[in-house]
Amino acid sequence: MPRMTAFNTLPLKPALLASVETLGYSEMTPVQAQSLPAMLEGRDVIAQAQTGSGKTAAFGLSLLQSLNAETIRLQALVLCPTRELADQVSKAIRKLAANIPNVKLLTLCGGMPLGPQLASLTHDPHIVVGTPGRVQEHLKRGSLHGGGIKVLVLDEADRMLDMGFSEAIDDIVGRIAKHHQTLLFSATYPDDIREVSKRVQRNPVEIIVEAPVETKPAIEQQFIDVDPARKLDALAQLLTGEGGQHALVFCNMRRDVDAVAEELDRRGFSALALHGDMEQRDRDEVLVQFANRSCAVLVATDVAARGLDITALPLVISYDVAHDPDTHVHRIGRTGRAGQTGLAIALCTPREKPKAANIEEALGRPLPWHPLKVAQPRGKTLHLAPMKTLVIDAGRQDKLRPGDILGALTGDAGLKADDVGKIDVFATRAYVAVNRSLANKALERLRAGKIKGRNFRVRALH
Ligand code: AMP
Repeated sequence: MPRMTAFNTLPLKPALLASVETLGYSEMTPVQAQSLPAMLEGRDVIAQAQTGSGKTAAFGLSLLQSLNAETIRLQALVLCPTRELADQVSKAIRKLAANIPNVKLLTLCGGMPLGPQLASLTHDPHIVVGTPGRVQEHLKRGSLHGGGIKVLVLDEADRMLDMGFSEAIDDIVGRIAKHHQTLLFSATYPDDIREVSKRVQRNPVEIIVEAPVETKPAIEQQFIDVDPARKLDALAQLLTGEGGQHALVFCNMRRDVDAVAEELDRRGFSALALHGDMEQRDRDEVLVQFANRSCAVLVATDVAARGLDITALPLVISYDVAHDPDTHVHRIGRTGRAGQTGLAIALCTPREKPKAANIEEALGRPLPWHPLKVAQPRGKTLHLAPMKTLVIDAGRQDKLRPGDILGALTGDAGLKADDVGKIDVFATRAYVAVNRSLANKALERLRAGKIKGRNFRVRALH
């Protein structure tokens, strides 16, 4: 009996089955098994799929199945959020198309000069893989013709929306053949993805693949005996080790949070304090900087750290032993990343031993005590975070979108997309992380140039 997950159970062209075999795919992945039958029937599909799920081969096989290589016309369009992804997708589709003669595929992305793209468009390709802004531009100019498109793929649709490509996508859909199949892939399903699906899809088949049961992340715990007078030295020493580039430090009291952050800052760490006495705006700024990697060490109280939506930190340190076992368990739950071990360290002075004993009792096993030989501090060396945050005094109220900021930085300001990190747009302000070594250059260029055709005030944080 044939296995239901074998590719040859699908009505695929022999040339495609041959490619699948050459690539060594013996069985369909869950996303492929669920989406391919509907896609090959010509249905619209919306699928929740992560990178690594095999989604590229799923839509790649589907669009190649309906492709007629003898007709010189654009028949399939794949939109991706970034150039890197577009390159990967192009490569994957080329491999799947290896046994179909004369398939012409073109990658069209922003940030690349337009001239060579125009030159290669003198004959229509069969397949275009590209980023929405650039594809839209070609369709508008008439250098690309969408009238024969049979399949439109929106890959990583959630990221495209995050990057402000929603309008470009709508515009593209309005410029291509009315009757086409739309395949939408997204890692997450927020409301705006459902909205896009409603606008651009017809009665789509919905596919949600259960995420594989996550193996519990491994957390290594350490309790370290320290002399109260050497606590800060011990902390600084631990932070210069592995994980110190993105670490969360807990103090039991607000005033210690400030003092510890200041002292770390004095010693050359990109450290910030977070506690409940701060203004909301300042707290937002700290959270943004920690999440976008402009701040290496966040020193916080337990209550304030609840606002932090990061749980996969490499290193969590209790500068003070938690008052109760529950709090301790919450703290260590902030570390432990899939596939990698997280480290949770508690510094314990002799006076804190009773609290440690409580935790031991609650955990029901002996605490893992480790010695730490605290070295003399070696003067000031720098332990800076990899990124720096720029603040733009404009936000959603000014219709500013992440894509506008990315565009200004990679366009006029001359940065590469890889040098730009997380972009957070609030109602009246926006934050963008840029590679620390390029922060001054980016700031100067943003001040001199325009964002969305307008001049906004821009400054660097810290
Ligand atoms: P993707 O989720 O599209 O980024 O694909 C992740 C990886 O899985 C790629 O390296 C593909 O070559 C590979 N892959 C896709 N489909 C299969 C399959 N049916 N069997 C084994 N590997 C696959």
